[in-house]
Amino acid sequence: MASALEAIGERWTLLIVRDAFYGVRRFNDFQVHLDIPKAVLSDRLNGLIEDGIIVRTPDPAHAGRHLYELTDSGRELWPVIHALLVWGGKHRKPNSRVYRHASCATLLNAAGECAECHITPPPQDIVTERRRGYRPTRDDAVTVALKAPRRLLEPLET
Ligand SMILES: [Zn+2]
Repeated sequence: MASALEAIGERWTLLIVRDAFYGVRRFNDFQVHLDIPKAVLSDRLNGLIEDGIIVRTPDPAHAGRHLYELTDSGRELWPVIHALLVWGGKHRKPNSRVYRHASCATLLNAAGECAECHITPPPQDIVTERRRGYRPTRDDAVTVALKAPRRLLEPLET
């Protein structure tokens, strides 16, 4: 656990990973959505790349820029992210989003399972949408793009 936290325990790191599950891939999009200082974002992304959680590739749409995407090891953090969302929703404040099994639209239970299909869907088979009645306090491009239901890991364009 100590060595896992060396990779993901610093402030912002898991929020960056969560946004990557939402399909965020560009530096500017992470920056405006998380409202994080650029130097800190750069530092955290570099750490995630060093630890093999995120991979950086050239952005075909913007010369000189990059895309940041989860590796297989990064995608394996989904149960960690989901467990934190569930815990935070229970003990801190209600979550802004809900998570459904894409093929049957059943809400995932606290263990991340679809009780209807008796499986634990992988992130690419999960759809996230705003919780009914939730009013976002932000209006950045990523928040706007996340207004519609989305499949996790589907690249988000702003
Ligand atoms: Zn299902």
